[in-house]
Amino acid sequence: MIWGLIGASTIASQHMIDAIRAQDGHDIKTVQSGNAAHGAQYAKAHNIPNSTDDLSILLDDTNISAVYISSTNEKHKAQSLAAIAAGKHIICEKPLAMTVQDATAMVQTAERAGLVFATNHHLRNAGSHIKIKQLISTGQIGTVQSIRIFHAVNLPENLQGWRINDAGAGGGVIPDIVVHDADTVRFYLDEAPIRVLAMEGSSGMAQGVEDSVMSVWTMPSGVMVQTHESFTHRYARTGVEIYGDKGSIIARDVMTQRPIGEIFLTDENGTREISFDDHNLYVRSVGNFSNAVTGSGRPTADGRDGIMSLAVALAVKDSATTGKAMDVDYGNI
Ligand code: NDP
Repeated sequence: MIWGLIGASTIASQHMIDAIRAQDGHDIKTVQSGNAAHGAQYAKAHNIPNSTDDLSILLDDTNISAVYISSTNEKHKAQSLAAIAAGKHIICEKPLAMTVQDATAMVQTAERAGLVFATNHHLRNAGSHIKIKQLISTGQIGTVQSIRIFHAVNLPENLQGWRINDAGAGGGVIPDIVVHDADTVRFYLDEAPIRVLAMEGSSGMAQGVEDSVMSVWTMPSGVMVQTHESFTHRYARTGVEIYGDKGSIIARDVMTQRPIGEIFLTDENGTREISFDDHNLYVRSVGNFSNAVTGSGRPTADGRDGIMSLAVALAVKDSATTGKAMDVDYGNI
């Protein structure tokens, strides 16, 4: 499968270029960047044969059958619709778009065209989260009562651009990280939050957007969820705590791009560490997407998953802004 990259981004350079090239028979032919000089330099640094600042040149290339979109968030919609019109399968970065309506239009247009559309929610691909889901679904902790997610990190200096000062590009910790936590909770429980209550803050890094948020979510089953996302916590550890009526799962350092962390299961027999697979998250994401394109599977997270995580993040933002609890509006999916 020959790929085009839409967006000369950090995430592609740090994870996705290698993940694409790790697949048998996959390579990258062209990178598109809005900035021609940046695109050319990026192509050279990553051994990509072509760069262009004209998206139609990439999309008109019939050798390219899939694109990875990792531009800033406000560009995802127009780029996805253009890629779909050109018949390309898509892995799109989260958040899929700026509104649920736009994300739904992208996903439904891809469906109508018979194209695979995936959302790059990497955490579902982690051995740690797959193991946690398995512990829950096999009844190891009984009926789940509550979940707490700790996803306060220190945003690295090289990423302190649009994320911390540009709401128009989709900046802010809510679009950046809440979407991942919403997707992870949906992955664990196979149900989606219905109502949220949130408070946001600016703890010193961001200007014009939030850099910290805490929220509580209610689930249809009655499970209560509490999450904390931040860009400014230099010495925090990430993690998940899941409490059930027969046990608990405590995981540390698992809200991450790397196959690391630890999981402890506590029940009437005491506490023991649970091992999990340490495969690369992004290689698995691209692998499942590629299988879906060849008709033998489905993406780890599809377009619908991307719409739903975005809807939760937007409800969290609305709640933090208004000070009121908000129903999550999933639109027409
Ligand atoms: P970057 O800031 O690295 O890149 C975003 C865009 O900024 C690029 O596509 C490029 O624009 C422009 N840009 C970056 N560097 C330069 C430069 N030196 N000169 C000119 N333009 C530049 O963003 P990220 O890689 O952090 O994020 C990209 C997307 O991926 C976002 O949607 C984000 O939410 C998502 N993401 C997902 C992750 C995951 O694990 N699933 C992790 C990190 C990010 P152009 O498009 O014109 O080339």
